[in-house]
Amino acid sequence: MNAGPARRQERDVDALVIGAGAAGCVAARRLALAGHEVLVLHNGTGATRLSSGAFDVGDDLRDDVPGNSSDPLSPSSARAGMLDVATKRLRHPYAQLSAGARAQMDDAIRFFFDATPGLSWHRSLSLNENLVALTQLGTAKRTFAALRHMAYVGDQQRCAVMDLRDCGGVNAGQIAAMLRHVTALSARELSYVTVPVARVFRGPALGHPAHMARALDADESAQERFVSEVETALAGHGDVELALFPAVFGPDLADRLEERTGVPCRALMALPPSAPGQLLVDALHRGAKACGAELVRAQVSSAEVEDGRVTRVHAEAPGLTVRPQVVVLATGRFLGGGLSRDQVGRETVFGLPLLAEGQVVGDRFIGEFTGPVVDSEHEIFRAGIGYDAQLRPVGVRGAKVAHNLFAAGSVLEGYDPARDASGLGVCALTGYLAAGFALEVLDAAEDAAA
Ligand SMILES: Cc1cc2nc3c(=O)[nH]c(=O)nc-3n(C[C@H](O)[C@H](O)[C@H](O)COP(=O)(O)OP(=O)(O)OC[C@H]3O[C@@H](n4cnc5c(N)ncnc54)[C@H](O)[C@@H]3O)c2cc1C
Repeated sequence: MNAGPARRQERDVDALVIGAGAAGCVAARRLALAGHEVLVLHNGTGATRLSSGAFDVGDDLRDDVPGNSSDPLSPSSARAGMLDVATKRLRHPYAQLSAGARAQMDDAIRFFFDATPGLSWHRSLSLNENLVALTQLGTAKRTFAALRHMAYVGDQQRCAVMDLRDCGGVNAGQIAAMLRHVTALSARELSYVTVPVARVFRGPALGHPAHMARALDADESAQERFVSEVETALAGHGDVELALFPAVFGPDLADRLEERTGVPCRALMALPPSAPGQLLVDALHRGAKACGAELVRAQVSSAEVEDGRVTRVHAEAPGLTVRPQVVVLATGRFLGGGLSRDQVGRETVFGLPLLAEGQVVGDRFIGEFTGPVVDSEHEIFRAGIGYDAQLRPVGVRGAKVAHNLFAAGSVLEGYDPARDASGLGVCALTGYLAAGFALEVLDAAEDAAA
């Protein structure tokens, strides 16, 4: 018998957060911690789960070319990087937000790390000094913090690049050669050997580190074989002080390896798909749920705005209409589905215009928003929605869309996470602030009702 169309569910909530990446989870946690009923709708995709395992806030040396005058392995300053970006890129959120809002970065960062229970981070003690992380491309990347088991330049000098024969897609020899090249441009004296690790899985090689991470996580005996093989491989290299792996570590593997080998075992910053990115998203979801936020997988399709207020938000699979007091839009960019460009560029839930450098993208030729050569500034990489100083989305003429709607994270216009070295830092700050602005609306409504 045909069951007929499923009934649409309707719900009233204090706060609806759309998106469960870094920005959405931070906002949801702050709203839930304030005692509000919070529903988070997300479609299970997004940039956060692809990210490398590093948390960037700013980098004042980001545009330097490694060489005579710039040491690629010397640390930079996140705080100076924030100021530099705010001065040079006037549409970057660091420039658009007030100095008072920007000054909440320290609180926002603390909040972010608390919002990832079960993950430990290695971070510098102040915003004045970034870590220098090492990547799977064999390059160095400055960042404010990295998951504790990720590779960064410390006191160790003799490094081993582990050549995992199960990970056919990663060429340890090339990584070591590139690291040697980068190190030669620096004052540091690091050396690199490649150390082969025999296969532990049968069949074709797994190719990508994220696939190997999943396979190791799912199979305790394979994990034990892997630890033994690494132990055997490193036994022949007694002087190695730091072992660098592709990002194949699940929650506890790095600790197990370190215990057994006595050598610090660290993962190179990952390329997507990314096991560290997955660990980060899982932790952010745990952090939001632990405070009472409810996370539901659904595709948000549209919203209704009446008299300057979002009144209803509609989602599919499951069919659901939410009547929220406040909404935080944290839907990310093209990867998460927050923005689309199907003939016309637009934001996907409220139909807001897509802006690049303050101009409406609309159906204009994409070449109008790219630079002349690959290395140029490309405005399209900074595309997003317009917003005011309280992170309220605005339309083409700068009028806010609704007084109970706020936006956070990479859906905001004006920054290029890759180029501005501020990807997750902007998410942490704007997620934290958007929730703070939304709390003011909720408090005012409570006062009015009292
Ligand atoms: C490959 C890669 C590497 C990176 N490396 C770094 C790095 O080293 N350091 C750093 O600081 N930053 C890095 N970044 C940038 C950083 O990861 C992003 O800027 C950040 O994760 C964006 O988070 P977000 O919450 O704004 O969006 P996202 O993580 O994209 O989340 C968007 C959310 O919205 C949901 N969503 C969207 N549309 C809908 C809809 N219609 N209905 C329901 N749900 C919806 C998605 O399901 C998702 O939950 C990297 C990014 C990439 C892609």
